[in-house]
Amino acid sequence: MAPESVAGKKKKLAPLKITCTSTACDDDLHCFKQAKKKGKEHVSGGKCRDCGVDLVDFSRVQKRNLKDLEYTFKSLKYELIRHHFWHLEIDLRAMNYARRKGTTALRVAAEKRIRTAVGPAQPWHDGTQTPKSGNPLYYAQHATATCCRKCIQYWYGVETGRDLSEEEIQYFSALVNMFVEDRLPNLTETGEKVPPIKKSEAEWDEEQDE
Ligand SMILES: [Zn+2]
Ligand SMILES: [Zn+2]
Repeated sequence: MAPESVAGKKKKLAPLKITCTSTACDDDLHCFKQAKKKGKEHVSGGKCRDCGVDLVDFSRVQKRNLKDLEYTFKSLKYELIRHHFWHLEIDLRAMNYARRKGTTALRVAAEKRIRTAVGPAQPWHDGTQTPKSGNPLYYAQHATATCCRKCIQYWYGVETGRDLSEEEIQYFSALVNMFVEDRLPNLTETGEKVPPIKKSEAEWDEEQDE
């Protein structure tokens, strides 16, 4: 019943300075987003923009094969921002939300989130539509590069400016679900009663992707 890592803690989250283009190449954490090229719409990820290391076979990731997820997840973790969210402690509000929902409803919520936040051709506030705390799905989206259409474009080779296909929505939802299963393995299927916390206790980080 007790949440494993967060009980009693009200640690204030340090302001995040990590953005999509942050790197810590010496720690083998990079950024594969390429510098902007004018006139080019379909821009794939590539070598690290800072150190030039070539770690990810993007043509392989961009096949979007659920049977090859291990490779995709391994590749994502080479990127600093993904690595950060893969390992970041999930905040209390997000934990409580997940426990209340349970795995079945979370899967429904994940699909809905992908469909509405990154599914449309012109998502609302694209690039900044995914907060950085408060919901495990947000962590999942940053960790799996499904947070905005720009990240989806360079990681998964899906051009911006058009609706995601049903198949793409299912694939990205699956990535989010895998993250949730990996990070929150002890959730019940149908949810449990978790008392609400006051809104003022939650730390909402407004810092945005660039
Ligand atoms: Zn690098
Ligand atoms: Zn993004």
